[in-house]
Amino acid sequence: MPASGHGERMGHEFLGVVEDVGAEVSGLKRGDLVVAPFVWSDNICDFCREGLHTSCRHGGLWARDGVDGGQGEAVRVPQAQGTLVKLPVAEDSALLPSLLTLSDVFCTGHHCAVTAGVDSRTTVTVVGDGAVGLSAVLAAKRLGAWGSPRPKAGGGSS
Ligand SMILES: [Zn+2]
Repeated sequence: MPASGHGERMGHEFLGVVEDVGAEVSGLKRGDLVVAPFVWSDNICDFCREGLHTSCRHGGLWARDGVDGGQGEAVRVPQAQGTLVKLPVAEDSALLPSLLTLSDVFCTGHHCAVTAGVDSRTTVTVVGDGAVGLSAVLAAKRLGAWGSPRPKAGGGSS
């Protein structure tokens, strides 16, 4: 990131507690714990209905074009009703670190595993050990893949 004489908005993966909602937002209220995906979107346009929220006709990227970034003290969320997902746990839940992965890395790893066609007949090799690679390993395992050679039929070891 180039140096600048003023602060820059940063970040795109976050959990948060709703402090206020706009008049057009329903389904969310002050005090709700939410997760924000890595883009903001309306969740109703033709692209969103196809699962292509990154191409939302009324969405965009965090920390761009005057929109807040997820690493700020507070974030104004455009299209909040379509963007935020309410979490079924309290603010002090021990699950928060795991739930944070739902904002980006686990979803990306899951997408990799699904796109690769992983199932119970699949042995998977994941190249890369960053957060997305590790999430891909978890997603592949959840989809039934084997991570090491399968035992040979007949139970013998060799
Ligand atoms: Zn959309």
